[in-house]
Amino acid sequence: MLDKVLIANRGEIALRILRACKELGIKTVAVHSTADRDLMHVRLADESVCIGPASSTDSYLNIPAIISAAEVTDSEGIHPGYGFLAENADFAEQVERCGFQFIGPKADVIRLMGDKVSAIDAMKKAGVPTVPGSDGPLPEDDPEAMIKIGRRIGFPVIIKAAAGGGGRGMRVVHTEAHLVNAVQVTKAEAKAAFGDDTVYMEKFLQNPRHVEIQVLADGQGNAIHLGDRDCSLQRRHQKVLEEAPAPGIPDDIRQAVQESCVKACIDIGYRGAGTFEFLYEDGGFYFIEMNTRVQVEHPVTEMVTGVDIVKEQLRIASGLPLSIKQEDIVIRGHSFECRINAEDSQTFLPSPGKVTHFHAPGGLGVRMDSHLYDGYSVPPYYDSLIGKLITWGETREIALTRMRNALDEILIEGIKSNVALQQDLVRDHGFMEGGINIHYLEKKLSL
Ligand code: ADP
Repeated sequence: MLDKVLIANRGEIALRILRACKELGIKTVAVHSTADRDLMHVRLADESVCIGPASSTDSYLNIPAIISAAEVTDSEGIHPGYGFLAENADFAEQVERCGFQFIGPKADVIRLMGDKVSAIDAMKKAGVPTVPGSDGPLPEDDPEAMIKIGRRIGFPVIIKAAAGGGGRGMRVVHTEAHLVNAVQVTKAEAKAAFGDDTVYMEKFLQNPRHVEIQVLADGQGNAIHLGDRDCSLQRRHQKVLEEAPAPGIPDDIRQAVQESCVKACIDIGYRGAGTFEFLYEDGGFYFIEMNTRVQVEHPVTEMVTGVDIVKEQLRIASGLPLSIKQEDIVIRGHSFECRINAEDSQTFLPSPGKVTHFHAPGGLGVRMDSHLYDGYSVPPYYDSLIGKLITWGETREIALTRMRNALDEILIEGIKSNVALQQDLVRDHGFMEGGINIHYLEKKLSL
């Protein structure tokens, strides 16, 4: 097992990683910006190092500072969490070149999955279902060829940047007349935002759900899936409330796509925890991207499988084979996760500041992953996620009832939070029925 791990992240996920390390007897090093000295995991870690000023560019994205911190503390592994450098192939490469273990896949696999065109190509080869599309980059300056592809796929289509991410670098085109111009504009935007103007075309699915499959692979030929999650409740491509398993999907369809993801892991030599993201429409799964890291919503999968995903990441990075086999994975009950953000429930404006009072809900089947405590000040510089409230129940109904009660119990004073929005969502009839699509929340909010 790794002896000492540096946690290259902040907030709730840094605390989550610290807890897993402690359980495994791994020593911990927290790195933090000058604005984050008071983070809960910094207090609890065996050692801590300040890596720079508040701005993420100077701290949590500062590769030399992070590697130096690993060097001076004699760390063996670096856990990137999610966001920041988690899917930065250059970082993974430098970490390993400097002799540390990157807790995630190999740099070339991150790179392969980071380019959407090469990712889709690899998926197709493994038999993972993809969205009908251009099968590679769109041809340069050839309007006729573009239109031909558009006609074959059928409008509406979506133009996407190969290097895109975070919901940026995409444009929907409804008619042939707008295609060529849209491609040009998307290319220019992609060049400016990502330094790469490669774009491709996909069929635009009109009312899909967002369903994703969690996988674990040890890089030694073993890979398993941990079932699926539904993350369709989104605002501006940001997930708000997630659940596992995804409701109402026929078992044979579910199983086929899960097995294809496991095969893909073996094919690409995957190592670590990962997520295959799909759009799901009319009984069909369509791959959109793979996230090569732990995700914010991993707890709902942990609740229904009993597998500690972060501990598995640490075991895999220590060179150990997977501790569980596919046959051991039984999906039990149902789980929900509400993301709790420091933001106004109505305007969605961030609300940093001092938390004068925090009370986390509790009880059977209730889990709160949060770094908040009384007197903690939420800094204005980072993501507004301040915690995740997770519930489990033998049935979807029980898990949802527990979530309603838990949300009524939570107390966050001194700053604004989106608890009121979540309270509204868990009482929404469409959501309660299950199977809503990715436009549902935006439509509800615009009413
Ligand atoms: P990013 O890496 O920027 O998150 P994704 O490829 O995951 O980009 O797509 C982000 C979101 O854009 C999806 O969750 C979905 O809402 C929408 N989207 C992407 N591709 C399609 C498509 N072919 N049809 C309909 N919606 C799409």
